Amino acid sequence: MKARRRRAARPRGERTTFTSLALVLHSSEWSETSRVVQLLLPTAGRCTVLARGVERASSPWRGVFDLLCLVEVELEAEEGRELHALRRARLVEHYPRLRTELARWYRALYAAELVEAATPPGQPAPELFAAFCDALARWCDPHADPDEELIAFEWRYLEALGLSPALTACATCGRSVDPARAQTALFHPSAGGVQCSACRSQARLDLMPSRAGRPRTTWRRVPVATLFALERARREPLEARGEALVDRDRERAEETSALRRTARHLLDDFLAWQLERPSRVRPFLR
Ligand SMILES: [Zn+2]
Repeated sequence: MKARRRRAARPRGERTTFTSLALVLHSSEWSETSRVVQLLLPTAGRCTVLARGVERASSPWRGVFDLLCLVEVELEAEEGRELHALRRARLVEHYPRLRTELARWYRALYAAELVEAATPPGQPAPELFAAFCDALARWCDPHADPDEELIAFEWRYLEALGLSPALTACATCGRSVDPARAQTALFHPSAGGVQCSACRSQARLDLMPSRAGRPRTTWRRVPVATLFALERARREPLEARGEALVDRDRERAEETSALRRTARHLLDDFLAWQLERPSRVRPFLR
């Protein structure tokens, strides 16, 4: 009989236990009864958690880790290991309306994809966490427009990452766009937003090779008045947007929908440039 070779025990790193709110970004099967869950926490950032036994019928945490739920978790982290262990979980918010309207659901999934792409494991993300929680709550408001809320989230998302595109000043030299001197300006995603003609001709961006694996973006000419209106809309607090929705006349509505179209184009161009790979969810947002 062969002697059974014993595997050397891996030295255990220091363990810490902590409790936090978290958003469920992603969840996949680990075994018949367990799941591996990607969570976004405000201070601990993105964490991968092994949720043992959550699929058992008797588990008190069954359904707690549905996609895009807000939960409170107690996790055990071990030094040197990316996988955290779940000690306790509690459902805080299920965002039910998201799950009954496809338009809202897909927009929220797209937001989750953006968040996951921008958060390396363990990097604190308090602003992003707050922006995502607010967006999920807004999508549950039956009066909120799903597209408008997505645009508001994307502006906040870029701001939280320190990537806000320049809209009313040149992204390269910082000189303000002067509405008295030009009616239109060039928005160039790879330059970081609007770029003045002097900086643009110096950079000769169109002649630069595309960045590895990323689509080469082209510039877009945008009316200066639209850029200023977008800058205002980007800074407008949520409450002000809510009031504007209530008392909007027809002319204002047309203006708003034109603005929204431009914002959509600029954000799509800009995010396509920033993301490492094309979004899987974006094509479904029609
Ligand atoms: Zn410039």
